[in-house]
Amino acid sequence: MPSSVVVGCRAALAVLILSGCLAVPAWAAVPTSAGGATAPDRPRIDELRCAPGTAVCRHGELLSVLGSGMQGTDAVVFLGRRGARDDRRSRPRATDGSKLTVQVPYGARSGPVKVVDRGVGAIRSSTALQVRAKGRAAAPPPPAPPAPAAPGPVTAAAVAPTPGVFPIRGAHTYGESAQNVFNGRGRHQGNDVFAACGTPLVAPQPATVTRSAFQSRAGHYVVLKADDGRGFAYMHLREASLVTKGQRVAAGQPVGTVGDTGRASGCHLHFELWTAPGWYEGGEPIDPRPQLKAWDGAG
Ligand SMILES: [Zn+2]
Repeated sequence: MPSSVVVGCRAALAVLILSGCLAVPAWAAVPTSAGGATAPDRPRIDELRCAPGTAVCRHGELLSVLGSGMQGTDAVVFLGRRGARDDRRSRPRATDGSKLTVQVPYGARSGPVKVVDRGVGAIRSSTALQVRAKGRAAAPPPPAPPAPAAPGPVTAAAVAPTPGVFPIRGAHTYGESAQNVFNGRGRHQGNDVFAACGTPLVAPQPATVTRSAFQSRAGHYVVLKADDGRGFAYMHLREASLVTKGQRVAAGQPVGTVGDTGRASGCHLHFELWTAPGWYEGGEPIDPRPQLKAWDGAG
């Protein structure tokens, strides 16, 4: 389900500019003025396009309006729904006759876009731009740290993958968008792996359960501490985890199922890997992708 791969988790603290947003195939109305041979060209909109790769534009992203006659554009109005209440106006950042670049304003809603040239008139797109608010559909930063401790050193040994069982027992795909991949502590601290809701989640290695709780952004989540001190956090479980704090779990033992609780859109596992001594116990979050791939490859 490639379209869901663009959603997933996003750290609230991070100001993430998505690398892409949907190319809306907007072959706009082309009002050909019958007559008026000397009239200047009115703007014409052929296509609304964000960077390729995602299904929607988000607030703050740059929208490209492709067409013609746009060299004199004074403003772009994001019309949203019917009526003027939700209209949002933005000045183009760059424009030539055939391409105009404009930032999608905060508060803009899905709807047609109007290009305004005070000299020659305005034209609106025949199709609606899909706009999604930043943060909606994006998912969660981790729960607030219980007691932040001094970070431990991140050494090569600390990040080297160790053998174990892949946490998702079923078909899955890795999130590849900017908000699905690891980009550091306080930002997106893990990786999102998409799988059907209800797919079993298991412990990768023998471990002790250090947290099993619910949090508004993480949803139902569980944190394990391996015997080497590393921490594994699983977020957005469909229901409360199957294990309780202090419990020992074996490699491959079920701990819950994939879900979309908390601030998540689409069923997925947000997985974090922390160096020893673990999750908010003095360890540091590291990119879990190499470890996940190693477990995944081991079958
Ligand atoms: Zn995530």
